Formats: sequence, C-alpha cells, structure tokens
Amino acid sequence: MTLGTPYSVTKFMTKSSAYFDYNATAPALPEVAEAVARVMIEGGNPSSVHGSGRRAHARVEEARRKVAALIGAAARDVIFTGGGTESNALGLKGLIATQKIERLIVSPTEHPSVLDLVKAVDVDVAFVPVDSDGLVERDAFCTLLESDQKTLVSIMLANNETGVIQPISDLTKIARGAGALIHTDAVQAAGKIPVNFEDLGVDLLTLSAHKLAGPQGVGALVLKSGLALAPLTHGGGQELGRRSGTENVAGIVGFGMAADIALGKIRKNISSKDLRDGLEAALLAAAPEAVIIGAGAPRLPNTILIGLPGVPADAQVIQMDLAGFAVSSGSACSSGKVSRSHVLDAMNVGDALAGSAMRISLGWGTDEEQISGFLDAWINMRNRLSQHPATKHAPGASNAPVEGEARVAS
Ligand code: PLP
Repeated sequence: MTLGTPYSVTKFMTKSSAYFDYNATAPALPEVAEAVARVMIEGGNPSSVHGSGRRAHARVEEARRKVAALIGAAARDVIFTGGGTESNALGLKGLIATQKIERLIVSPTEHPSVLDLVKAVDVDVAFVPVDSDGLVERDAFCTLLESDQKTLVSIMLANNETGVIQPISDLTKIARGAGALIHTDAVQAAGKIPVNFEDLGVDLLTLSAHKLAGPQGVGALVLKSGLALAPLTHGGGQELGRRSGTENVAGIVGFGMAADIALGKIRKNISSKDLRDGLEAALLAAAPEAVIIGAGAPRLPNTILIGLPGVPADAQVIQMDLAGFAVSSGSACSSGKVSRSHVLDAMNVGDALAGSAMRISLGWGTDEEQISGFLDAWINMRNRLSQHPATKHAPGASNAPVEGEARVAS
C-alpha cells in the first residue's frame, strides 16, 4: 500500500516556524507522521498469529532495536509504554514492589510525574538539595546514602525547564557504592545529547517519543537486564509481561523512526547549539539586565531559560504569542494551570527572577530566519514590558504568576 505525502501534514510543519517550545513537545517530523499514518491504516495486532499480526510484531521489534540503539541498550531491555509519565511510574513503582525498596531519594527539580508519585507510595522519601545552578549537591547526596534502608534514587538526566544536565554517571557510582538502585528520567536529554545506558550505569531509564519529534502518547522504560519489575497493568502479558495492553504499533513505529533520525544527527554532531548560543548572546547583549538561569552548569544545546527580573513571565509569554512565537514561562504546569516553578524554588532563585523566567527551546524546525524574527520580537516585548509600570511588581511583592493566565507545558 502506498500513501502519498499528506499535504496537510507537510503544510502544518512549515507553519511551526514560530514554534520555540520544543521541550513541551517537538512537532513530529513529517516522515515520522507519514509512517505513523501508514501503519495505522495498515493495522495489525502484534499478538495475532496471522500475517497482519506478524507484520505488526515485526514493526514493533524493529522500532525496539532503533530506540535501544539511541541509548546504547539491548533491545530486550526496552519496554514500550504510553509515555514518560507512565515510564516513571512503572519504573519506580515496579521496583519498589519487587526490590523491597524502603526509601526513595529524589531531587526536588524532578518532573511532576516523579514528585507527585513519591507522595503516593508507601516508602520514606528524602530530597537531595540542588545548588543555584540546579545541580545535585554531591556531599549531601553521599550523606543521604549513608543509610541501612534499601534505597532507590531517581534523578533526571536533563531538566525540562532549565536544560541543566546532571552528572548521572558520577551519581550512579556513588549510589552503587552505597548499594542503592538508580533511575534516571532521560526524557529531555534523549535525542538532544548522546545518552548511553551502559555508560550512565543506571538500573532504569525513562524516554518519551514526543520530545524527540516522535508521536505523543508513547515512551519507553529501559530496564537493566535481569532486574525484576512488577507491572502496573495486567492482562495480555505484552512486553514480556511488564506492560500488558495492546501495543500502540503506529506510535511505536514513529518513536523508532524519530529515535533513528535523532541518533543520525547526534552521530554527525548536528544540534541547535550554534543557533542557541547565538540567540542567547544576542538576548544578553540587547538586555544587560537579563539573566540566563542555570548558566553555570552544563545544559542541553537547545534550551534557554531567561529571566527579565521584575517582568512577569506570563506577560512575556502572551506578548511573544501575539507576535507569533510560542514559548513557555519557566513555571510548572498541569492542565493549563500556571503555578510557581518548583525547579526555580529548589534552586533558590529569588522571586523577581523566578517570576520572570521564560523558556525558549529550539528544535529541528528552527532556522536563522526564525531566530532573527524571534530576537526582534523579544527586544520589542522587553522594551514594552520593562517600561510599562502596570507589568512591574512592587518591590517585595510576589511575582507568582496568576493561575490560568497562560498555558505552559513541561
Ligand atoms: N519527564 C520529563 C523531564 C518531561 O519533561 C516530561 C514531559 O513533560 C515527562 C517526564 C512526561 O513525559 P510524557 O509527556 O511523555 O508523559
């Protein structure tokens, strides 16, 4: 069966020109969207014994090899899930159940899918502090690990708001030395920087397809060979009994293709870094009062979290949106509600800066022309809002954004 280039898909892609919110979701690459559509039309349940089922099964296994290759893991260790949130839940709850975990150590800058989960499990929880750049404090981490309790650590590889990259392989060595297990949420890192499961040395690693230009609603949990994991779902026994439920074949195929393309770019050292660095330098040159949050730490090559102290982030996001540029405030979100950023709180970023932080994240569709248009719009926005007394907060007043004013995503 052939499916012509879906014109609407290609057309939509060219319209993503003003999109600077790739950390929220990266629009699917056109070839990925086309492959997903083709597989959906083709159909087939990987558990069926007939030809259509066997073809669907083969497609899933091919995608599994591609996802495994992106992170240097064995294909058999990749469990497909419904996304990063589910992978975090499956990994943490699954190990708590099988490994007699008594305590979790997490950083306070984790994604809500981890921070909310730790409130819902019946084990002790310890938070390891981060420094002003968002990096885990090593000494505090070592001290927390001095415990007789069976411990599972969960620390993300790269932060969704700041782009700050944690030294996970070092932290893994420390955790291992203390007999702890370790999980890392690599949702934001995978596809943007080289990620190697073996080198990181972790027991569990979380991925999500839509952050690397694959489809939404599909992800993976990578599990160290031989480690037992209790499933969250029961029934058909798919994914070697670790995730029952008919596989999202089309989504998985799109994930595999996006992973393959991302790996090709990483191998050729293609990233948004030059564009990002150029934009960042130009923003700082235009607005000396602006602050790049997390600048003292290694960061993802596509992310800028920039604050204009005293200028509310929501007002900035709305102005940029009106100018045709999609960005997020540095605040955390759920269902479109805006609240203070727990990440910036943990980094002890003061109110004026935290309330003014805007996240700019670049991706496969970003080009020089967009960067230049963005820069002009941002300078206009900054000149307008910085001069407008109504947008400023009185000294000492909270800069907490008003709930529901702008939609942001993590
Ligand atoms: N972890 C991180 C670091 C994220 O940025 C996100 C996405 O917002 C998730 C987990 C959740 O992934 P998903 O949207 O696939 O559930």
